[in-house]
Amino acid sequence: MKRVCSYCKKTYGEKEPFDDNSITHGACEECKNKMMEEIDKMPQEEPKLRKGSLREIPSPKKS
Ligand SMILES: [Zn+2]
Repeated sequence: MKRVCSYCKKTYGEKEPFDDNSITHGACEECKNKMMEEIDKMPQEEPKLRKGSLREIPSPKKS
């Protein structure tokens, strides 16, 4: 099976079974790294989750 990157469409390797010519999609190292960079650039805080809405959910602790 050929591994083709769904982002840049490059073949970046093979995986078992090697005699199978079908294609499996994924992300090559290059695109993975790019994605990681994009994630790092994104704002880390989600205002929705920071406004105390989580506190309204009763905690499931039974101690
Ligand atoms: Zn790629």
